[in-house]
Amino acid sequence: MTSLDDLPLREDLRGRTPYGAPQLDVPVRLNTNENSYPVPEPVVEAIAKAVHAELADLNRYPDRDARALRADLADYLGHGLTVDQVWAANGSNEILQQLLQAFGGPGRSVLGFGPAYSMHPLLALGTGTAFVDGGRDADFALRPERAVERIAAHRPDLVFLCSPNNPTGTALDPEVLTAVLDAAPGMVVVDEAYAEFARPGTTSALAALPGHPRLVVTRTMSKAFGFAGGRLGYLAAHPAVVQAVQLVRLPYHLSALTQAAARAVLAHRTALLATVAVLKEQRDRIVSTLRARGYRVADSDANFVLFAVAGDQRDTWRRLLDAGVLVRDVGLPGWLRVTAGTPAETDAFLAALAAVDNGTAVADGAAAIGGVALADGAAVDDGRSGGSEGIA
Ligand code: PMP
Repeated sequence: MTSLDDLPLREDLRGRTPYGAPQLDVPVRLNTNENSYPVPEPVVEAIAKAVHAELADLNRYPDRDARALRADLADYLGHGLTVDQVWAANGSNEILQQLLQAFGGPGRSVLGFGPAYSMHPLLALGTGTAFVDGGRDADFALRPERAVERIAAHRPDLVFLCSPNNPTGTALDPEVLTAVLDAAPGMVVVDEAYAEFARPGTTSALAALPGHPRLVVTRTMSKAFGFAGGRLGYLAAHPAVVQAVQLVRLPYHLSALTQAAARAVLAHRTALLATVAVLKEQRDRIVSTLRARGYRVADSDANFVLFAVAGDQRDTWRRLLDAGVLVRDVGLPGWLRVTAGTPAETDAFLAALAAVDNGTAVADGAAAIGGVALADGAAVDDGRSGGSEGIA
């Protein structure tokens, strides 16, 4: 019988495991930062109507430039953006992949600062782009000095920043963006998948677009809009960047159904984005409750919270799962990440954690903000770490 090892697979893909956040059927699923609220009925109806209107024309290819949808996205983003500055694809993962295809590739490199989004190194791998991990300080912060020093040392073709950062949750210090834009010899990509959840006063990299033609801001409808199953991600940048990704995109990559559904969702954005305030409340409740219980918790501008546990995080992860609550082990020793969902889900998570830890968790946890230093280049949840992610 033929196995993967028998196939003439690319050498750099041998021995790798695919991205695989567990998709388990448990009562409380708080492991992939989805929006826990289902699509409201009026929006379901609007999507159905919009999709229905496309059905008879499915014999034809869709608008391969998705101009109507891009105009709607530009309108949503504001900042004076126009349709020519926005590009859309099947999730922001595909957007990031297209950016790497256009600006990275064999012989080129991308610099990221881990722990950050686990797909960044995997997308680099898939596109043959060398991934360099510039690391973070022990408190998970990224400071301008480190960013500039790593850029000078590696001269990357792309720099990936993530704000708010996944898995730590904290938004980027604007001084870092300024410093990176000054120092980077190539493209600067700011992954803002969780931007809508940021705490007041947080600035978006969108504000820095004027005058910076090599800056790209990526966004998604998977989180705040609760449209993860619809698969719609997008970017905002100089029109030349949009022209660049059009060189590598597949023809007709965005189906007519996706375009129609996403436009219906955008037309109902007030109803959908109403959940953001509730989710932020739950996020803040998780942060304050865990801190009151003595846990170390990273500041969060996202719809998830990173917290330190005593002992091996894989044990806590498993015990929470046994209690019906699925959280995320991102492969960071001593830390777990939980998505902020409905108040009932927060109740369930907080109760399960209290039962699991029996009130004794914490202060002696292996990981510490401002405590144990995080090794530079620590591989986090990149599909190779063999952490609990490998379990399911
Ligand atoms: N960026 C970050 C930081 C993420 O956490 C995610 C999803 N987990 C994505 C991008 C990709 O999201 P999507 O492809 O659903 O837009």
